[in-house]
Amino acid sequence: MEWRRTHFCGTVTEELAGQKVILNGWVNRRRDLGGMIFVDLRDRFGLIQIVFDPGNMPRDEFAQAEQLRSEFVIAVRGTVQLRPEGQANPNLATGKVEVHAHNLMILSPAKTPPFEIDRADDVDESLRLKYRYLHLRSKDLQDAIALRHQVMQEVRGFLNEHHFLEIETPLLIRSTPEGARDFIVPSRVHPGEFYALPQSPQMFKQLLMISGFERYYQIARCFRDEDLRADRQPEFTQIDVEMAFVEREDVMHLMEEMILHILRKIKGITIDGPIPRMTYQEAIERFGSDKPDTRFGLELTDLTDVLQGSAFRVFASTIAAGGAIRGLNAEQCGSLTRREIDQLVEKAEQWGAKGLIWMVVEEDKIRSPIAKFLTEAELQAIRDRLQGKPGDLLLLVADTFQLASEVLGRIRLLLGERLGLIDTGRCDLLWVVDWPLLEYDEESGRYVAAHHPFTSPMDEDLDLLETEPGHVRAKAYDLVMNGVELGGGSIRISSRAVQERMFRALGLSMEEAVNQFGFFLEAFEYGAPPHGGIAFGFDRLVMLLAGKDSIRDVIAFPKTVSARDLMIDAPAPVSEAQLRELKIKMQH
Ligand code: ASP
Repeated sequence: MEWRRTHFCGTVTEELAGQKVILNGWVNRRRDLGGMIFVDLRDRFGLIQIVFDPGNMPRDEFAQAEQLRSEFVIAVRGTVQLRPEGQANPNLATGKVEVHAHNLMILSPAKTPPFEIDRADDVDESLRLKYRYLHLRSKDLQDAIALRHQVMQEVRGFLNEHHFLEIETPLLIRSTPEGARDFIVPSRVHPGEFYALPQSPQMFKQLLMISGFERYYQIARCFRDEDLRADRQPEFTQIDVEMAFVEREDVMHLMEEMILHILRKIKGITIDGPIPRMTYQEAIERFGSDKPDTRFGLELTDLTDVLQGSAFRVFASTIAAGGAIRGLNAEQCGSLTRREIDQLVEKAEQWGAKGLIWMVVEEDKIRSPIAKFLTEAELQAIRDRLQGKPGDLLLLVADTFQLASEVLGRIRLLLGERLGLIDTGRCDLLWVVDWPLLEYDEESGRYVAAHHPFTSPMDEDLDLLETEPGHVRAKAYDLVMNGVELGGGSIRISSRAVQERMFRALGLSMEEAVNQFGFFLEAFEYGAPPHGGIAFGFDRLVMLLAGKDSIRDVIAFPKTVSARDLMIDAPAPVSEAQLRELKIKMQH
């Protein structure tokens, strides 16, 4: 029998009625009914019902049809027929027809799969990941991976139109201290030396600007050896972009156009630009987050000024230490049970606060475990500032401004979700701008780059680099969607002198800087155009567009939260011989 297909399963519709077709695919389901066998045959394009009738086909081939089980791979030759009156399936694109088989060929039998392909959600994720190639057959993952492809094509299409060149950069590079930990790769040819896998193509894309390519992009694989948190992958994909002869506005404008284009093309969502902007400072002040979810209110308020001079020890010591008292009005949450409130307190403590102060506004008084430590005037001031009405729950954190804001920001998200305040139909985009250039790292006792060491300071803050490094703002921008960071970038430093000052601010001696970044510093001396760019987390973008909760659902072969590939069983030991070649000895 000629087995190669003439049509895809999902495309067999009533226009083909009466025609002979050959179909290939997997048995999705088999049912025996009154001496006949019905099979839903599945390929990438859909399902079609096949009817095996012993009167229509050679006896030995019908006998084979009796052997069919889920996931057998078969070829069927048959005639397309309209289904009998009343038997059409409106849920199926091919539901008006069925194929009456004349011939059957089993191309590959299948063992019983370890889970039902379309019910994989019911089984343990480790089993699904071990048999990822089976889970990938599910409609859900087929659609997600196809969507990923479409988004990738839209990105390429958009950037190609705008004269960007797609350029690959090396995966075997040298280790540099850039935020996270590098994955390192031993060199056999140069024993004792190591490559590193890139955390991002950052320096290469900047060098491509110095090389004169002007507009670069890459759908780039990046590697970060982090202790994985909930939804991270050790290797992930970025839409990586860099442009020469631009200011912040140019990059933001074009990238915003790209994201709006993708939303329109993929989701049919039309959002009018320009996307609103908020400074980092305002985002922390109002939402306690550098990626605020602006789809609901519950904004934070500052109480430090009205509580100046309070005799309450917690407030007094916070203010004396230069900290802040920040508050949130959880409107109409005064009816939460004591247990529910205690849970909020516990959360706040987990997130690093020393405590969470709560007050319930009642008709004629404020009920709170700390009410007795505050004066009437102070209680009133708190209530007024937070616009507390009877039935409201006021929540306060006293700590450093940053920590108090962040903890309340997280409580805000928790309450927003719990109280159903988030309008999930909304798509809120927001640029967060004017980021700090440096952050003080308590552990190492020095400043670290808030973004990366190549980010340009704002011109007007440049001279604070040596005197007040913590107050220098960066020409950086992040794009946030519904409280999720889609991407971030910056205008870069493009002069050797400023780059050297930046390294110095990061505590690198000139010798260390030259040792690690000498090639880069030197490049600035041969004519470096002003340049800047951005990178978007591609997996996360696709996840949001697909309406999934995990990036694992939009990556064909993801790793577990503990960085394992359960299908190929990696990482894995290597042979003694391989280690010997690399001159590596294991420590046991
Ligand atoms: N390389 C940066 C990152 O991976 C993005 C950028 O600045 O373009 O976060």
